[in-house]
Amino acid sequence: MLGNFSYSNPTKLYFGEESLCSLNEELPKYGKTVQLIYGGGSIKKNGIYNQVMRLLKDNGKVVVEDGGVMPNPTVEKLREGVQIARENHVDFLLAVGGGSCCDYAKAVSVSVHCDEDPWEKYYIRFEEPDCEIVPVGCVLTMVGTGSEMNGGAVITNHDQKLKIGHVFGDAVMPKFAILNPKFTFTLPKQQMVAGIYDIFNHICEQYFSGEDDNTSDYISEALMKSVIHSSRIAIQNPEDYEARSNIMWAATWALNTLVSRGKSTDWMVHMLGQAVGAYTDATHGMTLSAVSLPYYRYIMPYGLSKFCRFAVNVWEVDPAGKSDEQIAIEGLSCMEVWMKELGLTMNLHELGVSEEMLKGIASGTLIMKGGYKVLNHDEVLEILKNSL
Ligand code: NAP
Ligand code: FE
Repeated sequence: MLGNFSYSNPTKLYFGEESLCSLNEELPKYGKTVQLIYGGGSIKKNGIYNQVMRLLKDNGKVVVEDGGVMPNPTVEKLREGVQIARENHVDFLLAVGGGSCCDYAKAVSVSVHCDEDPWEKYYIRFEEPDCEIVPVGCVLTMVGTGSEMNGGAVITNHDQKLKIGHVFGDAVMPKFAILNPKFTFTLPKQQMVAGIYDIFNHICEQYFSGEDDNTSDYISEALMKSVIHSSRIAIQNPEDYEARSNIMWAATWALNTLVSRGKSTDWMVHMLGQAVGAYTDATHGMTLSAVSLPYYRYIMPYGLSKFCRFAVNVWEVDPAGKSDEQIAIEGLSCMEVWMKELGLTMNLHELGVSEEMLKGIASGTLIMKGGYKVLNHDEVLEILKNSL
């Protein structure tokens, strides 16, 4: 049965080739001093930096630069960003980049006026912000996380070997997000496919839970089919605008919380992947691809009817004359073929994980309770061993 829920999403999206101009509509709504958040320099190489700077200047903004946000932003960088915002009395945070910049901007936004240590408050105690929140806007250049239209902010603490996500509420979600598919054309292929798998897995995490007849699951199946179809075009021709736009739009829908309404969710692949990320600093999507099949093959018997439905409705497996188990296994094999077509990392070894690390990774894995099987510590370790 569809559970009770509320749904709102306050982020305004601007999509398309001309969407950057929408900064002219949005920037006047916020104060004078803008902290411009970006990563390691891709936006300077592909010209997006100059375009954004020009629009900021045209709108009379004082720009405070905050570059160097690394993939998988760290707690040290978060503290640095907070200091920049405080010293300059920043009114607005504009993230130009991928999920790392968007997540980081949200983490800064709830920390600038917070008296406590943000890591302890938001990532260890999972408390909600009770201070003024600095508004955030995003110009997206890397597709995958859905961070442009959600409240998620993942931060890594290397000293504690923990990578943790906090999902904040409406007040922290970006006020607007600008999505120009052309901005993603310069992504290296590895990043493009890692992002595509991140999208697919976000949908799986919300799909592989519950057995009720839920509209959200039908939406998920359609999104998965669109991602599979467009990804096959994009790996052949990364500049196919139609495919890249569909991937960008699917990524936003995959994790703007719509498809989890009224149902339970799993999120164990992300918990495993984040624990791996805390040890290796590997690309997020690749940590997910490396653990996914061992995880899904392990839980499949506990959620057999959904894995069957996945095989038939998403992978178009012909069920005639087959047992439910055979159908489900065939569905996961089709998924494996697709993952290999994309060139995803299929094991932890390639990410630099050694056997000795597995116990530590297992103990850094948060156990979620919404999937088909609530794992115990030994099972987490077994899945990690199967992923090596
Ligand atoms: P990312 O870490 O933001 O970016 C990955 C790399 O892509 C960076 O090296 C970046 O280079 C490069 N890049 C970005 N745009 C580019 C472009 N247009 N051309 C060339 N290179 C470009 O990747 P992401 O996967 O979007 O974000 C990963 C983070 O998000 C992880 O910490 C993950 O845990 C988190 N996450 C958040 C959510 C959520 O709900 N909020 C969900 C899943 C994952 P530069 O640094 O030089 O720009
Ligand atoms: Fe993700």
